[in-house]
Amino acid sequence: MTIAPLPDAADLLARRARLLGPAYRVLYEEPLHPVRGEGVWLVEANGRRILDVYNNVPSVGHCHPRVVEALARQAAILNTHTRYLHETVLDYAERLLALFPAELSQVMFTCTGSEANDLAVRVARTVTGNEGFIVTANAYHGVTAALAEMSPSLGLGVGRHVRTVPAPDSYRVPAAEIGARFQADVEAAIASLAEAGIKPAALLFDTVFASDGLFVDPAGFVTGAVQAVRGAGGLFIADEVQAGLARMGSHMWGFERHALVPDLVTLGKPMGDGHPIAAMIARPALLEEFGRRSRYFNTFGGNPVSAAVGLAVLDVVRDEELLGNARRVGAHLLAGLEGLKSLHESVGDVRGAGLYAGIEMVSDRPSRTAAPKLASLVVNGLRREGVLVGLCGAQGQGLKIRPPLPFSTTDADHFLERLDEVLAKLPA
Ligand code: PMP
Repeated sequence: MTIAPLPDAADLLARRARLLGPAYRVLYEEPLHPVRGEGVWLVEANGRRILDVYNNVPSVGHCHPRVVEALARQAAILNTHTRYLHETVLDYAERLLALFPAELSQVMFTCTGSEANDLAVRVARTVTGNEGFIVTANAYHGVTAALAEMSPSLGLGVGRHVRTVPAPDSYRVPAAEIGARFQADVEAAIASLAEAGIKPAALLFDTVFASDGLFVDPAGFVTGAVQAVRGAGGLFIADEVQAGLARMGSHMWGFERHALVPDLVTLGKPMGDGHPIAAMIARPALLEEFGRRSRYFNTFGGNPVSAAVGLAVLDVVRDEELLGNARRVGAHLLAGLEGLKSLHESVGDVRGAGLYAGIEMVSDRPSRTAAPKLASLVVNGLRREGVLVGLCGAQGQGLKIRPPLPFSTTDADHFLERLDEVLAKLPA
């Protein structure tokens, strides 16, 4: 098939520049202009089908008919808010909480992962009476002013009450040392806060350290760090916006891989298959204390339409066995990526869990020198080949491979073939 150029990309870019604030960025040298989505595919304005190996928001596939139907049905009946009684938000709460360890038995709904994290920050401050937060060196936790101060990946620095610890880099730190080193770094952060007269309210991390570069192994390595913060009077907030809802394949949530029970868990992106729903899950004693001291009303969070959508997503995850799919296809994908590593010197490391994989591009394998330029060439080369992936890591040296969950082994093979071609064309 001959592919027509995108007819109006230049016009749309010019309109954006005129109308939207410049803090927004467009991905890819050749911007994407999708007009339709179905499963793991996007269709561009010129009719071209693009394999989506990047987007985790359409968790059960773009425009899943059951989710669309649930949304439309409830939107046609009623949409209000959590200040009135409604069964659907309770049905959804029950179904969602059933996926968590028994200790985590209450939920509060929000619209975005940022709001869930912002609420978790408020709860942690309120119940501990402490002000300090510890995050990883290239973390991203959200858009609010409080979270921007805890999101060093934005390049703005962190707040005076925030300390960063190096990401637990499994490529550069030996597996046997990684847990002890992460713990020692958290202990040093606690000590540094103490020097400023601040106690920790929480250690907050993404349980796959995605924006730091995706670090998942060895499972259990975060335990010592979590004990350290609890010992200092702080909570552990597990940010599951990236890892959560079946993507890990082995477990529903990233923290479960580490055999931990967090104090607070924040969820977002994948819960609504594109619809903005998010949540904070908690130990009830914490919310009792928070509820005594504070009120919380999120106008759109937990509304009947969002709850219906959330329920439909959980139905699809169960009925299409997407946890098992993530495990099976993830293993196939990882094996294929390992195969490419043996063929291409520029692939320094392959890592991942379930349907969350990353490869790290290097200019020199023995010294493990990160190669962000090569990573960018691969991302843009794949986009030209009709495949979407993203970048991750402090320098943008990693490829973020994170497709919608119904990704099949055929889809994985299609992706691996294109990746092989693009890697083969990289400058030596
Ligand atoms: N936490 C993590 C780990 C994230 O990746 C993101 C979004 N990329 C957020 C929080 C914020 O979620 P949202 O964009 O829904 O506000």
